[in-house]
Amino acid sequence: MAKLNAAAWVRSYAALIDQRAAELTALDAAIGDADHGINMQRGLAAAVAALADAPGASATEVCKQTGMILVRTVGGASGPLYGTFFLRVADGLESGTDVTTFAKAFRAGLEAVMARGKAERGDKTMVDALAPAADCLDRQLAVGSGPATALEAAVAAAEAGRKATAPMQARKGRASYLGERSVGHIDPGAMSAMLLVRAARQALR
Ligand code: ADP
Ligand code: MG
Repeated sequence: MAKLNAAAWVRSYAALIDQRAAELTALDAAIGDADHGINMQRGLAAAVAALADAPGASATEVCKQTGMILVRTVGGASGPLYGTFFLRVADGLESGTDVTTFAKAFRAGLEAVMARGKAERGDKTMVDALAPAADCLDRQLAVGSGPATALEAAVAAAEAGRKATAPMQARKGRASYLGERSVGHIDPGAMSAMLLVRAARQALR
């Protein structure tokens, strides 16, 4: 059974963020301050660089280190939130990296983001991509899907969640200052959160 390789997850996430940085920044230019792509690029580059200093680190150690670096280097609203996500996932992966354990850790990460950011589903944030992915993972595992199938479906759920942020009015973060003018744009954090799930799919070994 394939397991999640945490270092591969961080590396894949950094690569996807690099590929889509301009798009993330363009989304943030529409309803924020045009820094989400560059913020995430800076943070993930630092996280990847730190992996080289910790060869053979456990999944928990990798996620803990990544979380601390993201809190420190991403900045904005998203840095502390993604940092919190990885720190909580780190705890969840102490008991293993099989997909069932990962699904529990992922949900714990989502709950930590929601507690820290006080965002609910429908507030037009990263939660709107993370939450459907967590639900999808649970559903897939409940019906006996294998790791690749479950994560593939979770990527599709996060992607649908990302798209569904367009008609929402932002109720959290900088975009909420725009009120009704935030409607009609995809949330940048929902886009980067979808990439986080896609990176996990790529990190099954
Ligand atoms: P900033 O808005 O401070 O410039 P970023 O541009 O890096 O930070 O990140 C913006 C993203 O952060 C938003 O698109 C949204 O998805 C997410 N975000 C902002 N506030 C919250 C919150 N309270 N809860 C969850 N996500 C949030
Ligand atoms: Mg911003």
